Amino acid sequence: MERLQKVIAQAGICSRRKAEELILDGKVKVNGKVCDVLGTKVSNQDSIEVNGNMISKEEKVYYIMNKPKGCLCTSSDDKGRKTVLDYMPQNQRIFSVGRLDYDTSGVLLLTNDGQFCNHMIHPRYHLEKTYVVNLQGILSDDDIKQLRRGLKTKTEKYQPAKVFVLQKDLTRNRTQFELTISEGKNHQVKNMMLALGHEVRRLHRVKFAFLDVKDLRAGEYRRLKPYEIKQLN
Ligand code: URA
Repeated sequence: MERLQKVIAQAGICSRRKAEELILDGKVKVNGKVCDVLGTKVSNQDSIEVNGNMISKEEKVYYIMNKPKGCLCTSSDDKGRKTVLDYMPQNQRIFSVGRLDYDTSGVLLLTNDGQFCNHMIHPRYHLEKTYVVNLQGILSDDDIKQLRRGLKTKTEKYQPAKVFVLQKDLTRNRTQFELTISEGKNHQVKNMMLALGHEVRRLHRVKFAFLDVKDLRAGEYRRLKPYEIKQLN
C-alpha cells in the first residue's frame, strides 16, 4: 500500500506537493469516489483518476542509453527529426531524465517514473555529470581557475566545476578536457564555454553519477539494475 499523493507523483503527472493540492481540491477519485483525504493508502488494485483521467499502473522502467548525436530528447519533433524514443521500445510511455542537446552524445537515463525523474534533476541532490568537452581554442590556466571557482555571467551563476585537461593541441588550437558539474542548466557546458570565449566542437557525457556507457554503442540501451536504481535514489 502506498500513499495516494506518492502514487500520483510516481505516475509522472505532477510533483507530490501538486498531487496533495489536487487531492485537497477534490480532483482525485479512488475507485470512482472523490477522495480528498491526504495520506489515503491505495494499492495496485485501486483505480485512481486525476482530473477525470485514469492514471496508468504501468510497471516502472529505468533505462540507460548511449545517446547518439543527431537526435532530440523530446517525444516528437515537428520538423521530423529523430528522437531518442526512436531507439527505445515502442510500447512504453517513457521520457528522458533531463535533456542532452541534439548534437551531444553519451549517458542518458530514460524512465516512466516521474518522481524518479524529478529527483534526478533536482539541484538539491547535486548529482555529478561528467562531460568530455572538445573545445575550439586553448583552455588557459585562468579559464580553469574560473571554472573551478564558479563562473558568473550577466545572466547566470554556475557552481564550481571540476576540470581535468586530457589534451592540448597547440597546432590545431584545440583542447580536450573533462568537466564535472552538479547542475543541469540549459546548454550549460556550451554557455560556460561561451562565457570564457570558447566554442564547443563536440560534447559527450561520460558519466551521470556513477553510471557510464562504456558497455554500450551509440544508440544502444539497457535496463538499469535494481541496485543501480537504489543507489541513485
Ligand atoms: N551542456 C550543454 O551545453 N549541452 C548538453 O547537451 C549538455 C550539457
